[in-house]
Amino acid sequence: MDTPAPIQEPDRLTLARRAMEAARVDALVVTHLPNVFYLAGFSGSSGGLLLLPDALHLFTDSRYTIQAREETPAARTHIVSGPLADAVGALLRGLRRRGRLRAAYDPGRLSLAEWTRLKRAAGPRTAWKPVPGLVERLREVKSEAELDAMRAAAALGSEVMEEVIGLVKPGVTELDLAAEIDYRMRRKGASASSFESIVASGPRSALPHAQPTAKRVAKSELVVLDLGAILQRYCSDLTRTVYVGRAPAEVRRWYRAVEQAQKAALEALQAGVAAGAVDRAARGVLNRARLGRFFVHSTGHGLGIEVHESPRLGRGQAQEIRVGNVVTLEPGVYVEGKGGIRIEDDVVVHAHGTEVLTSAPRSLLEL
Ligand code: ZN
Ligand code: ZN
Repeated sequence: MDTPAPIQEPDRLTLARRAMEAARVDALVVTHLPNVFYLAGFSGSSGGLLLLPDALHLFTDSRYTIQAREETPAARTHIVSGPLADAVGALLRGLRRRGRLRAAYDPGRLSLAEWTRLKRAAGPRTAWKPVPGLVERLREVKSEAELDAMRAAAALGSEVMEEVIGLVKPGVTELDLAAEIDYRMRRKGASASSFESIVASGPRSALPHAQPTAKRVAKSELVVLDLGAILQRYCSDLTRTVYVGRAPAEVRRWYRAVEQAQKAALEALQAGVAAGAVDRAARGVLNRARLGRFFVHSTGHGLGIEVHESPRLGRGQAQEIRVGNVVTLEPGVYVEGKGGIRIEDDVVVHAHGTEVLTSAPRSLLEL
């Protein structure tokens, strides 16, 4: 199968330059690889960008000479043999300037060693300004082309979820099910999993981020399946919880509460509200069901080139939800010694209403 061409709209660099102007900088150093891909289309595992008002420079090593030329024809490519930070800094040092050059970097995306090298190589005539999340803010708002990729990734994940739920039965191991998930995603065209697939059964389902083990699924157990596919560079992320056998009243009650919490979050999700309000809606339902203390994580997260990106739908988050955001809604309850329940879907925020991308059945399945 051909590698899909990177999705790229011509206006990303323009938007980034506008953000640079707003931050009052003349240069932007980009070191986080998903940001490099977003701005330049380069998908190698080693790379950095220097964005200037009138030029884009890509720095990578000799393994990627051909790939860089193919993926980023718009950039001036520098094939570097030593640390990239030295080369970026040297280029900054050599730029002609009036006064000091103001360069932005993201302190959360550089190691201390890289930062030290960069500063030293750029010399004293570069003034550094920390600007966290400049590119991440742009990535929060998805274009139509990005949404199409995400619809396809979500459809693929949903198909695999339905198929693998059909394989859940007593005696099958968590690892068997995880292997089926990964294999089926690949067969359907996924380049990779968005994250290590989660299959957690019985008391282990109370661990929100359980790794699959050789444990066999048994009768009268909850099983949580959390999976995601990367398709055309974009991630999906969905969770379903099933019960092996006939669920007792307590489990049904938990399930209904989680279902209603997710519904409340979906109703609260709209452009203009604070991200924290979406979390509050889900948490409120679980609190009223006296399950609030078992909901140990936030309600959701942004989704895109990375499986966890901004905006975060956590407690008290003031950041505003915007048209074009794609987020997960994934409330859960986790009761130690008994089990856990999570329902997770991927949702786009439109100007008028929302669009749920994931489609696997949401009501309690008793197998
Ligand atoms: Zn998930
Ligand atoms: Zn998630």
